[in-house]
Amino acid sequence: MSTCGASMEPIGSFQRPNEEQVIVHRCLGCGFERFNRIAADDDFDLVLSLPELPPRTNREMKAQRLEEEIGDEFDIYQID
Ligand SMILES: [Zn+2]
Repeated sequence: MSTCGASMEPIGSFQRPNEEQVIVHRCLGCGFERFNRIAADDDFDLVLSLPELPPRTNREMKAQRLEEEIGDEFDIYQID
C-alpha cells in the first residue's frame, strides 16, 4: 500500500552499479515509485520476469542509499 491508499504493482527491475538488483513498485493511483532490494525470500522467478528498467537517477540513488543507512524500506519522493 502507498500513502494514497492505492495498490503498488511491480513494474520492473534494474541493476545498480554495485550489481544489486532492485525491484521497482509503482502506485496505480498516483504513480509513486518505491525501490526495494531483492531479499532472500523474494520470488526470484517473478523478478526475472519483470522488464528491465534503466537505472534511476543520481537523486533517486541517493535516496536509496539513505534507505540502506536506515536499514529498512524507505519511501522516496517521486520525481516530478
Ligand atoms: Zn499512490
